[in-house]
This record gives sequence, C-alpha cells and structure tokens, in this order.
Amino acid sequence: MTSVVIVGSGFTGFECARTLAKKLRKQRPDVEISLISPVDYMLYTPLLPDVAGGLVDARFVAIPLANALRGVQAIRGRVDEVDFEGRTVTFTDPEKRSRALQWDRLVLTPGSVTKLFDVPGLAEHARGLKSTAEALYLRDHVIQQLELADVDDDPGRRRARRTIVVVGASYSGTELAVQLRALADSAANQMSFDPSEVNFLLLDLAEQVMPEVGEKLGEAAQRVLKERGIDVRLGVTLKEVHAEHVVLSDDSLIRTHTVAWVTGVTGAPLIEKLGLPTERGRLKVTTELQVPGHSGVFAAGDAAAVPDVTQPGKITPPTAQHATRQGKVLARNVAASLGVGKPKRYKHRNMGLVVDLGPRYAVANPLNVQLSGFPAKIVTRAYHVYAIPRFVNRWAVTLAYLTDLFFDRPVVSFGLSTQEDAQFSASEGIPTPKAG
Ligand SMILES: Cc1cc2nc3c(=O)[nH]c(=O)nc-3n(C[C@H](O)[C@H](O)[C@H](O)COP(=O)(O)OP(=O)(O)OC[C@H]3O[C@@H](n4cnc5c(N)ncnc54)[C@H](O)[C@@H]3O)c2cc1C
Repeated sequence: MTSVVIVGSGFTGFECARTLAKKLRKQRPDVEISLISPVDYMLYTPLLPDVAGGLVDARFVAIPLANALRGVQAIRGRVDEVDFEGRTVTFTDPEKRSRALQWDRLVLTPGSVTKLFDVPGLAEHARGLKSTAEALYLRDHVIQQLELADVDDDPGRRRARRTIVVVGASYSGTELAVQLRALADSAANQMSFDPSEVNFLLLDLAEQVMPEVGEKLGEAAQRVLKERGIDVRLGVTLKEVHAEHVVLSDDSLIRTHTVAWVTGVTGAPLIEKLGLPTERGRLKVTTELQVPGHSGVFAAGDAAAVPDVTQPGKITPPTAQHATRQGKVLARNVAASLGVGKPKRYKHRNMGLVVDLGPRYAVANPLNVQLSGFPAKIVTRAYHVYAIPRFVNRWAVTLAYLTDLFFDRPVVSFGLSTQEDAQFSASEGIPTPKAG
C-alpha cells in the first residue's frame, strides 16, 4: 500500500485531496490518501468579515470534510513533527494523544497565522480574524460593549466601549471594519441610540487603503469608508495596547475596549520547525511545488514561497485564488510522481480581487476591469456564492444575503467563543497555560 499524507484542510489541502482522489481512483486504487487537520472542515475565510459582522452564520462558511472528500481519510490532529528520513509525521489528536503516520508522499499545506509584532499588550488585548472563533468573538464582543455602553453612567467609558479600532487597511481589515460598522448601525437602530456615537478607526502604516486594488479603487474605497463614519488614519499603527485604551505610533491615546489586528500573515508554526529554507516565513519550493532536496515532499498555499513565474523573482501572494489553483497542481504533480499523468509547473496570473464594503457598495477589479458601487457589489456577492465549494453552503449564504436586504442583523451574543478561545495562540492551536 502506498500512502499520501496531506497536512492541513484549507484551500490548498482540500483542493489537493479532492483532485488527487479523483485522479487516482481508477488507475491507482491501491494509494491511500489521508488528510490531517485539527478541524473537520475547510474554512472559506473570505467571508469571515461577514461572520464577524453578524451577516452570515459561521457554519455557512465551513465546508464539512465528511462526504466532500470521497476516497480520502480525514484525521483530526495537529502535525508536530516531520521525520524526512523515516518518512513519518507525528501528530497530536483532539484527546492530546500523540500518534504517527507513515507516508510515501507528503503534502505540506498548513497555511499561515497572523503576523504579530512586538507591540506591548498586543497578543493579550487584541484579536485577529483567521478563525471562526475569532470572528464569533469579535461579533459577540462588539455587541456586548454596545449593550454595556447603553447603561454606563461614565461618559468617558461609554465612549470607549463605543470605539472600535481595526489595524490593517488591506482588503480583509477594511472588510472587517465595514461589517462591524454595519452591525453597530443595526444595533443602534434596534437599541434606539444614535449610530454616529459608535466610532471606528482603521489604521495602517501604508500610504493607501487596500493597495491590492490599485490607486483609483483604493481612493473610491476610502471615500466610502469616510461616508460610513470610519476614521481612516494612514502612516499610523499601534504603539501600546491596554485593556481600556491604545497608544498610537503618533503618541495619541484612544480609549477603546475593542482592538482587531488584521495586518498580515506568516507561514504556520510547523514550517519553522522543519528547519528547511524559508522566504518571508514560507517554505521554499520549486515551480513544480516540490521541496528541494526531499523527493516525494510537496508544499503550497500560504505556507510555501511559490515562485511566481509570471513575475520572475517574486513569490505568489498568500491568497485563496492562488491556494486553490496550487492545490490542483499539487494533486497533478503528486499523481505524476505515482505514475499517473505528467507534472507541470505552477503558473497563474492574478485575476483581480473583490472587496465587499458593506451595504450596497463594493470595489472589484476582475480581469483588470475596475468596478465600484452597486455593480461591484453584485459581482462580489456572485463571486463568493460561486466560489464556495459546496451547494448547501452556497444556498445558506445566498439566503443570509437575501435576509440582510430586508431585515436588521440580529443583535445576539451567545458568548460561545471566549476571549481565551479567540487568542492568537489558540487560533494557531498553541495551548495557552492556564492562569494560577
Ligand atoms: C479574513 C480573511 C479574508 C480573506 N479574504 C480573501 C479573499 O477575499 N480573497 C483571497 O484570495 N484570499 C483571501 N484570504 C486569504 C486566504 O484565506 C488564504 O490565502 C488561504 O486560506 C490560504 O489557503 P491555505 O490552504 O494555504 O491555508 P489555510 O486556508 O489557512 O488552511 C491551512 C489549514 O492547515 C491547518 N493546519 C495548520 N497547522 C497545521 C498542523 N500543524 N497540522 C495539521 N494541520 C494544520 C489549518 O487548521 C487549516 O485547516 C483571506 C484571509 C483571511 C484571514
């Protein structure tokens, strides 16, 4: 029996497993494909801002591995070590038992984690947006702060509870800010307070909002953010984070109880542990997605520094667009290494980006066509509904969008994701020592 082990069930690992199982089904039914991941789903991250904004339910953006990956054994666990000589991986299962698995081909797709900087108080008081736990925590926390503000007699503290700071004005941070704004507006409407009393700050060290969409759309986005009452401050970041205030790099002090940190990503912690060459925290691979010097070992997605053959000298950016396509090429090249088909190098030209900017507005540049406003909104929503890889999820997300057209967002916080669940270390699967 020949075995292929895939590490991670994100865009890359999921697509690789699905395509590989199809490719090998007839010609190599003897090959056993296993996929190890701490979760039993593939997370459609582009809609996490919608989850944080209370627009879409968290289950709708999780694609269950059960029945989506026919012919693949899904194993719950986090890979801790790879033994390249002995061709085994060691992983910890959900009951904290250590187990080992033999491989003939290994596919490393553990994705990325939020990049943290040495800002005092950041890891303790800020929260990211890489997991459903973080998205749900942010939603619940914002609602709770608005509810507490409503009955707070101290005007300074009331204002602090109604101030939300988002750091990172790339597409995901900007989408988060506008979705939280829409949630706050909905809450204001239902709880009968003035929505302009909720203050939003969007910070970035860069000179432009969303450099990914170009100058013209970036400026359009900035205008809309201003109209939505979001105070964009460029060339500024956090200097200190405290439980009830932050200090910015220009030394201004902002009283706030909510800080979201969405500034960028670096390769998953497993990559550093491998002790292999990396570039910007991502594992170096060839254009055929092989790990140099280790035959039978492949890697791609956010975890890998994949050469961008359309722009020599550069690596492909960490996006779902590349991750999904790299997953397919991985499958093809792993199959080729097992005698099925021929390998190919990874080549993909960026097809543009869609960015949802809240009610009735988006910006998008599909195939370099610059769109903004309502037409971009339709393209953005249609794109996501098309791109989610399962009919039931598409159906549920479409219904959520339709519901949002006619009704206010629900102001409900179940508190199921605690502050600890949403810590950066928890979303990376690193256990946090319990206090006391
Ligand atoms: C909020 C947000 C919005 C985004 N919006 C967009 C967008 O609009 N368009 C776009 O193109 N991209 C977007 N992205 C980027 C996109 O999500 C990533 O590029 C993509 O998820 C990368 O896929 P991946 O498979 O490499 O990693 P991931 O999707 O992160 O998956 C990694 C998987 O590996 C697992 N894993 C990690 N460590 C281990 C381990 N040690 N053992 C086993 N399993 C492990 C994880 O649990 C996960 O299942 C967004 C990202 C975020 C966070």
